[in-house]
Amino acid sequence: MSASTRPQVAAKKYVYAFGAGEAEGDGTMRDLLGGKGAGLAEMTKAGLPVPGGFTITTEACNDYFAAGEALPEGLWEDVKAAVTQVEAESGKGLGDVENPLLLSVRSGAKFSMPGMMDTVLNLGLNEQTLQGLIKLTSNERFGWDAYRRFIQLFGRIVLGVSGERMDAALDAVKEKVGAKQDTDVDAEGMKEVVQELKAIVLDETGSEFPQDPYQQLDLAIKAVFASWFGKRARDYRDNQKIPHDLGTAVNVMMMVFGNMGEDSGTGVAFSRNPSTGENVLFGEYLTNAQGEDVVAGIRTPSPIAHLHDQMPEAHAEFQAIADRLEHHYRDMQDMEFTIERGRLYMLQTRSGKRTAAAAVKIASDMVKDEIITKEEALQRIEPGMVDQLLRDQYDPDALKGATKIAKGLNASPGAAVGQVVFDADHAVEWVEQGKKVVLVRIETSPDDFHGMAVAEGILTARGGATSHAAVVARQIGKPCVAGCAELTVDYAARTATSVNSGVTFKEGDWISLDGGTGEVFEGALGTVSADYDEQDDLKTVLGWADEVRRLGVWTNADKPEEAERARSYGAEGIGLCRTEHMFREGERLEIVRGAILVSGAAMRARAKLEAGGTLDAEEQAAIETFDGAMAKLEALQQGDFEGIFEAMKGLPVVVRLIDPPLHEFLPNLEETLVEVTEAGDAATAEQRELLAIVQSMHEQNPMLGLRGVRLGLMIPDFVKIQTRAILNAQVAVNKRGGDAIAKIMIPLVGHVNELSRVRGLLEAEADQIAEASGVTLDYKFGTMIEIPRGALTADEIAKEASFFSFGTNDLTQMAFGYSRDDAEGGFLLKYVEEKVLPFNPFQTIDATGVGQLVEIAVQKGRATRPDIELGVCGEHGGDPESIFFFESVGLDYVSCSPFRVPVARLAAAQAVLADK
Ligand code: PEP
Ligand code: MG
Repeated sequence: MSASTRPQVAAKKYVYAFGAGEAEGDGTMRDLLGGKGAGLAEMTKAGLPVPGGFTITTEACNDYFAAGEALPEGLWEDVKAAVTQVEAESGKGLGDVENPLLLSVRSGAKFSMPGMMDTVLNLGLNEQTLQGLIKLTSNERFGWDAYRRFIQLFGRIVLGVSGERMDAALDAVKEKVGAKQDTDVDAEGMKEVVQELKAIVLDETGSEFPQDPYQQLDLAIKAVFASWFGKRARDYRDNQKIPHDLGTAVNVMMMVFGNMGEDSGTGVAFSRNPSTGENVLFGEYLTNAQGEDVVAGIRTPSPIAHLHDQMPEAHAEFQAIADRLEHHYRDMQDMEFTIERGRLYMLQTRSGKRTAAAAVKIASDMVKDEIITKEEALQRIEPGMVDQLLRDQYDPDALKGATKIAKGLNASPGAAVGQVVFDADHAVEWVEQGKKVVLVRIETSPDDFHGMAVAEGILTARGGATSHAAVVARQIGKPCVAGCAELTVDYAARTATSVNSGVTFKEGDWISLDGGTGEVFEGALGTVSADYDEQDDLKTVLGWADEVRRLGVWTNADKPEEAERARSYGAEGIGLCRTEHMFREGERLEIVRGAILVSGAAMRARAKLEAGGTLDAEEQAAIETFDGAMAKLEALQQGDFEGIFEAMKGLPVVVRLIDPPLHEFLPNLEETLVEVTEAGDAATAEQRELLAIVQSMHEQNPMLGLRGVRLGLMIPDFVKIQTRAILNAQVAVNKRGGDAIAKIMIPLVGHVNELSRVRGLLEAEADQIAEASGVTLDYKFGTMIEIPRGALTADEIAKEASFFSFGTNDLTQMAFGYSRDDAEGGFLLKYVEEKVLPFNPFQTIDATGVGQLVEIAVQKGRATRPDIELGVCGEHGGDPESIFFFESVGLDYVSCSPFRVPVARLAAAQAVLADK
């Protein structure tokens, strides 16, 4: 009787059969057949030897309740016809004493609802069929154990008998015969358990355990339907927001046994190796065993390769099935199988979970084998996986036994293992002695850069995703856990304590931090290292991403080494060179400090001179000191830019003029104040003067203070020397045969006048250089859009700028009104945890709010200047989800730290594919 010839009595088609290579349903029918039923139908259609069975639809469940918990008319006849079909295919009979058909009965809703309703196994057993089973298997213990399991499951799930009482009956017999495991109980023991269970059933239900297999089936189907409105299921749906009117399907399927002798077995296997991606079957199996025995770990399974020696035919068939399944589902499969007396049955298949390395290799191999297209391969790889492949990771075994100290923000991924140091100088000293260190700070500042550069990783107690520690760590590719608020760092005692775990660590202790998860562990955990150059599959896949993506992928880099690394990762330009990051290197910080400290006096003296006044010696000296320092800085910066232009070999370089508030380069106010106060009368005039200057430059809200373009307008020398350094570097590099593409960018513009003024300053310098060098200068002038007013007036600003780069860090700070330095250490992470905000907007762009400002600026900028070049250089430029947004608003490129360039290439391609 095939599917089409089976009679149907009910008014609706409530029963969908599958088996013998045919199925009435398919994988798309999840609404009607539930997830499991649709999967079974699809597997059968794919040509898999799935044990025969049928699915009763979710519609039948809903009609059952609509009719006041009565089976819809005709359904039972249709179920019986479907059973007859399973009997015909299997050659067994439900209730047949000689050759009994046993069934499993399971629920299966559209959405997986784990634990809603357990499975009833071995349905069809009774006192007579049990004897048939024992005869067939020549295994009395197996038969009684199967019956025992059936009564226990059916009793609890269908008849509502106390599970605990039945478990206790089994335990009592186990104790009596001195058995540790269920498997230690022999046939006689199991027989005794069965008698006990039957007595409990009679006691609790007032009736004998049902012996008629059809009555068992009727009750089981109704119990599955009833479980849909059970408390557990209702609560689960409320919690998961699954509607209550979907109903559940019921899957009835022939039982197969892997424990029917040496020609039987059971196992689980992947169609390819899930950790390396290698194209060989990978998994394990047990001869003469049931699925639970594999899971329970009572016996040690053999590698699947051994199946080849023991049952070559089954192995060959399994291999062929794995191949067929991969072609059908177009993905690597994770499969469960049972061999019953030499005959292979597939019980389940699904896409297999895999490591990042395996994901990339499998995707790339499947394209080569023409199983999937390049586009599909790109969509199969999660961007985060690419990131993992570029960083050292912890050995999973090492992580298992690790003691966690604390958890902070996952600011820059990778595994870092080292001895704790609490300041940057120590870090450098220890590294010079050959040690590996992790730099632990309350927060970092530019003063800490030299320590961060030599450390394996960085851990801070304060500051979020755009804090100094996070931004710098990402840029130089160091793992970083930031904003670990549970950590109290005591610099004086050189210790840090987690208030949550209570663990204290001190200088010199080994710790391991995971920048991908934000976790910090005790001790030195083992790691597995990564090298991009050796990962050919990754490079191949990223090459395909380049063919698909529209967005350019540039990088944020301040140094030639960073630029080179980014270029090797595929960066197509530098979208942000934060010049001030170079101010920290070596002697520069002292020069910059010198200039800043006299800048006030020098500016005043200059104004006096311009007003026609005469300067005294002190005023004269201030100007000279200031000019001297600036000249030195200019020379050093020119060298920096030459290096970067050379490293980028003709790719564009956006150099941003000085941005941060000047106090970042000065000694800390509190520390200076303490020094002077403690010194008392002994404080030198120099110390007092330093304190006075630092105090005079102090701002309550420096992030909203004298920084960015404002600084350039107040102290024009910064603009002048930086312009000269950039353009002279271009001239020098090009004279040597290079091809330096310079783009000068002004930060923090809120009003067009700021930009036009600074442009005037800059062009005057450029003209002088052109004249002096005799070269026509080729540079572009543009601005960052990172202040809401700048975004809203982008049409005016575009008159003065040939390109915009969105500074989404500041734009987020100012659109939300959250201080980027403080929010994540304070309320913001709590906000995310408690779902006040759906995610951290400093990590992923807030498309609805901040994104609108970007969209407005894109549209207004292009209205004024249709060919305006638009990029983003905030931290969001390397965040896959944000990249989807930037694609949708039509930016030209994203710019991110070098290590995120490969991730961004993939995400940019996925963004295009998602739009198709
Ligand atoms: C920004 O604000 O997004 C930006 C890139 O600049 P910075 O982080 O240096 O302020
Ligand atoms: Mg900014």
